[in-house]
Amino acid sequence: MGKTREWSAPPAKLLRVGDGFDLAALDRAATPGWAGKKKDAAAFLDRRAPLLSELQERLFAHGRAGGTRGVLLVIQGLDTAGKGGIVRHVLGMVDPQGVALRAFGVPTPQELRHHYLWRVRRALPRPGLIGVFDRSHYEDVLVPRVEGTIDDEAVWPRRFREINRFEARIAEAGTSIVKVALMPSYEEQGLRLMERLDRPDKHWKFSPGDVDTRSRWDDYQAAYADLLAATSTDAAPWYVIPADRKWYTRLAVTELLTQALVDLGLGWPRPRWRVATQRRRLAATMSEATLAEARSVAEEKLAQFEADERAHAEAVAQVEGRKSPDDGGAEGPKTGKTGKTGKTAKTGKTAKAPKQKSRKAEQPKRKGKKKQKK
Ligand code: AMP
Ligand code: MG
Repeated sequence: MGKTREWSAPPAKLLRVGDGFDLAALDRAATPGWAGKKKDAAAFLDRRAPLLSELQERLFAHGRAGGTRGVLLVIQGLDTAGKGGIVRHVLGMVDPQGVALRAFGVPTPQELRHHYLWRVRRALPRPGLIGVFDRSHYEDVLVPRVEGTIDDEAVWPRRFREINRFEARIAEAGTSIVKVALMPSYEEQGLRLMERLDRPDKHWKFSPGDVDTRSRWDDYQAAYADLLAATSTDAAPWYVIPADRKWYTRLAVTELLTQALVDLGLGWPRPRWRVATQRRRLAATMSEATLAEARSVAEEKLAQFEADERAHAEAVAQVEGRKSPDDGGAEGPKTGKTGKTGKTAKTGKTAKAPKQKSRKAEQPKRKGKKKQKK
């Protein structure tokens, strides 16, 4: 087996839409930052899964303790881009209780009676959760534009500004937004749609309208290029993922999500009660024999916890250490630290202080419900 392959550069840097981004020039079969093959990616994901899962649990615990942080993953892409695969394979790595998934389809008559952001606002994740949008408000600057149901070019820049304001407010309230646009090639989409027709077990995924949408490929690409340029902000950046290789799409989105969770810098929340007191109360309800049994494994449990914490801190430091100093500040609250310093290797007590400064900032508020300021 040997050691697993690593990213050569963080996808958050390589895939981010910035000035001069050119969608038409994107190589959709490329695997930016990943020199390995599909099987290396599988090995890497096996290593990522426990990290992602624990980061999610920390976020969940933070939410339970009254914290304000959350994550919203917005997944956009045309039919067959692999949105469902992301939900199944990437979010499948974490506890489903911690995920708030919402798929946005053609607006219902009720939704149509409201502003287009109405249904989106209602679907925003509560703190502590990873919200996932399978399609989103971005359909509202794609479908009506390409299909011509709104025939007024002044609408789009207005909606872009509105969306940017909307997302900035969400980020300010504590939810980190990660937007991924999955981009397969025209040829690959043709193949994937044909497979849906070739296999009776995939017919349910097909709709005749998919061919109509495909026939307006160039218009959709142009509308995507426009929205990507207009709505990739510091508060809510876009990442464009080449999607001809499904394994790469999943690998890249996993890493972006992991990075966003690492950036939250969450430790385990401190309980509002005293451990010693509760231990005494519980002990009073147990027999001597049972207590002795609990005592016999106590040290082992603590050691296991400490080993887990060390492993977690190391994995986090590895994700952080990979970042270059110049991309700081782009993705929301930062500690101003360069990865490695978060570890207190000397004491071996990695558990308590991966990030002093951010821990303070991210510590759930005990009293009052003051809004988090950044
Ligand atoms: P699917 O994701 O394949 O289940 O399909 C959902 C369909 O709903 C796609 O064709 C989307 O383009 C369409 N859709 C989603 N949101 C909107 C919207 N705001 N306006 C028009 N069509 C939409
Ligand atoms: Mg579809």
